[in-house]
Amino acid sequence: MSLTLYNTLTRRKEPFEPIDPANVRMYVCGPTVYDYAHIGNARPVIVFDVLYRLLRHIYGPEHVTYVRNITDVDDKINARAGQDYPNLPLNEAIRRVTSATEKQFHDDIAALGVLPPSVEPRATEHIEEMKTLCEALVARGHAYVAQGHVLFDVSSMPDYGKLSNRSLEEMEAGARVEVAPYKKGPMDFVLWKPSKPGEPAWPSPAGIAEPGRPGWHIECSAMSEKHLGPVFDIHGGGIDLVFPHHENEIAQSRCAHGLPVMANVWMHNGFLQVEGEKMSKSLGNFITINELLATKKFGANQWHGRVVRLAMLGTHYRQPIDWTAERLLQARATLLDFADLLSDIDPASEPNADVIAALSDDLNTPSALSIVYGLAKSAKRNPDTAAELRATLEFIGVYGGETREELNVGIESVSVDADIVDSLVAARLAARRAKDFKESDRIRDELAAMGVALKDAKDPKTGEIVTTWEIAR
Ligand code: AMP
Ligand code: ZN
Repeated sequence: MSLTLYNTLTRRKEPFEPIDPANVRMYVCGPTVYDYAHIGNARPVIVFDVLYRLLRHIYGPEHVTYVRNITDVDDKINARAGQDYPNLPLNEAIRRVTSATEKQFHDDIAALGVLPPSVEPRATEHIEEMKTLCEALVARGHAYVAQGHVLFDVSSMPDYGKLSNRSLEEMEAGARVEVAPYKKGPMDFVLWKPSKPGEPAWPSPAGIAEPGRPGWHIECSAMSEKHLGPVFDIHGGGIDLVFPHHENEIAQSRCAHGLPVMANVWMHNGFLQVEGEKMSKSLGNFITINELLATKKFGANQWHGRVVRLAMLGTHYRQPIDWTAERLLQARATLLDFADLLSDIDPASEPNADVIAALSDDLNTPSALSIVYGLAKSAKRNPDTAAELRATLEFIGVYGGETREELNVGIESVSVDADIVDSLVAARLAARRAKDFKESDRIRDELAAMGVALKDAKDPKTGEIVTTWEIAR
């Protein structure tokens, strides 16, 4: 099985060759835990979960290490903590904000069928490693201390800008932001900074007496190195992270060790917009994962996590995605069909090989899903195909044996007494035979009010009307 992946660093699809097939290593930038995760944040989580599953399939589950961090040191967290808990000491307020947000994030993504990563490091637990990196960068002449800050000197790295494909001259020319007086060059970025009174603070790297805190980029360099080593296989995140976050991670990690690479393959998911517009609080189209799963705020429906996941995977991960209610309705209809077909079927031992091949071509989920829909057609007649289909859907994480009722989350179910329905159906047929159409229509309306829909068909042999019924939704 050959896996090819698009590499942002080289701007082409390349065969994937792990540094060590016995330990394939992937790092994905995780959430900053200050608020509910929105549906755009769910995209990298789902996309890289599919890649994690594929790597486990190819190399064996015990041969893949997936690290997805929790960013729990950030200005946005401090701001939220002060706002939500004005009467608590800031550090206590921060703990409340981050622990509640982290729990919510875990609950939300578990509902989306996302496997836990091998390691989920927190920034606050890696401060020593961040300080060590800062000191190594200063010692090697790639960073300098100024006014309580440690700053990365971008002029010290000849190929700074390679990932985002920009030259330093271009970036400097375009830098319109007012440059802080302590910076030597306008593109120099913060590795460590002073904390304001009351803010979380740790003893600073050598050369700074006052306590301070790390910048965002150094957090990922420290956490990835701690758990995956200074060079690893795959680094992922959303396309917005290419510059400056990933560019700066590369600068820090490479220059701290004098290495030519940090990660061999850099992967980025495209952006998600909602109903044709950029998601934003002011436009009122900002939608959290939790609102999709637990309220009727989007498309006047509550949506099962599997439905959300299937809807997400209908678009290739590098393409932009337009998140619409229509997309969710279609995904739900598909999953309801799968539930009818598969909820009583045991999965086969292996997923379908063509689906694995499609996913191995740079995670081509639209192609994988069209193969799945083809399988579903023959699965109606062939139990072996049905078993393989179920295994394949479980592999992708879009179906796990849910019933129709479970997938129709939030839609009130009607329960009826089948004996009563049967006798009403018989009474209606009798009325029709007696040409008492007023009575037969009345009975049909009575049944409809109970949530029962009728279907009349002619028996092909006898020519008689046969009525079947089902619960209407
Ligand atoms: P943040 O918490 O803003 O750092 O984002 C966490 C992850 O979600 C990062 O990988 C971002 O690139 C990604 N992300 C944020 N917004 C979107 C969006 N609208 N579409 C796709 N990915 C996004
Ligand atoms: Zn990161």
